[in-house]
Amino acid sequence: MTLEQKDKRDISLERAQVLKERIDDYLIKQESIPTGLKNEEYIQENKYRIMKVLGATNEQWDDWTWQVSNRITDVETLSKILNLSEEEKNQIELVGKKYRWAVSPYYASLMDPNDPSCPIRKQAIPSIEELAEGGEADPMGEEFTSPVEGMTRRYPDRLIIKVTNQCAMYCRHCQRRRCIGQQDLALPKEDLIRCLQYVREQKEIRDVLITGGDALLLSNERLHWILSELSEIPHVEMVRIGSRTPVTMPQRITDELCEILSKFPPIYLNSHFNHPLEVTQEAKKAADKLCRAGVVLGNQAVLLRGINDDVHVMKKLNHELLKIRVKPYYIFHPKEVIGTGHFSVKVQKGIEIMEYLRGYTSGLAVPTYIINAPKGKGKTPILPNYIVSWGENSVKIRTWEGEILDYPN
Ligand SMILES: *Cc1c(COP(=O)(O)O)cnc(C)c1O
Repeated sequence: MTLEQKDKRDISLERAQVLKERIDDYLIKQESIPTGLKNEEYIQENKYRIMKVLGATNEQWDDWTWQVSNRITDVETLSKILNLSEEEKNQIELVGKKYRWAVSPYYASLMDPNDPSCPIRKQAIPSIEELAEGGEADPMGEEFTSPVEGMTRRYPDRLIIKVTNQCAMYCRHCQRRRCIGQQDLALPKEDLIRCLQYVREQKEIRDVLITGGDALLLSNERLHWILSELSEIPHVEMVRIGSRTPVTMPQRITDELCEILSKFPPIYLNSHFNHPLEVTQEAKKAADKLCRAGVVLGNQAVLLRGINDDVHVMKKLNHELLKIRVKPYYIFHPKEVIGTGHFSVKVQKGIEIMEYLRGYTSGLAVPTYIINAPKGKGKTPILPNYIVSWGENSVKIRTWEGEILDYPN
């Protein structure tokens, strides 16, 4: 080696040491962040305990229709699964009168029965804080952007069809609580036919999102019908499915469903993982099946106080997702929806998380942070500032490490 080469190598080694130190804090913190894959044994124990309470067989547990019809919806059953104080029981009862709740047995098996601050519990079990004042029923003004019953159109070339209000679990932070009501309702077929007719007539629509509720709570038969109708519309280039079932009820991802999905490419499925604990062996199995069926997987997380409003947790979540071939797509800033104020966080927190991702980890693990503008004005990306100032023939940029540099323009 020439002296010059040796200098270059020394500089590189020094730099590598600095880079390594940039994530020292994460390497320590992540050890103590629980994940669904790390917790596999504990989840299995919970599963058998819950199966006993519900008198279920393994076969029933693996059957999504059993999971749906055995969702836990009453305090008495819940208290056999979680350790609840009298006060908690009363509060759940009270909140339940105003807002529906239901938890699939599978999702309940991810919960820590002894810890009320368990991030899985907080997403699924009603809290007395839901009765606090503030927030709107429909901050997105979806009701003013619905050209046909069941549809929301907010963009030039794409729209959503809400095919059912049913979910495997009703998220306590749900942005469409107003649609959840007290009963499960699939969009009537006549309304679906009108939605499809609208898409057929509007030639600029190239991307149709099937969502809800949870699109995969529909029967295979109904889904097959919708997908085949859409596949016959020449200007529809792609279909997206919005479903939280890979998180809340992965049993839904059956071979039969995958068979159907594989017939209508390209299909993109966006799920809603919020915490690394949700990335379990079962979720991985579901993701594997969907990938094999040619479905491209993404994730839309919601930034939630007490659940994932932490730079390390959010980074870990994105890493766990990439391990199971789910691409982090969005992080949504929580909306001002009535009954969800206790989850709200400052925009600064979201920026801090984004700042901590870019550069510090794979670009693939960096979703876009979004604020949904009020009144259905659309998703607005929010970024840390990387352009510091504009000069005549140059821009001042800030690198991920915070270095300010001139860049010729
Ligand atoms: C989120 C959303 C979409 C999809 O937005 P993308 O940024 O393309 O993912 C489309 N229509 C409505 C009404 C939406 O809320």
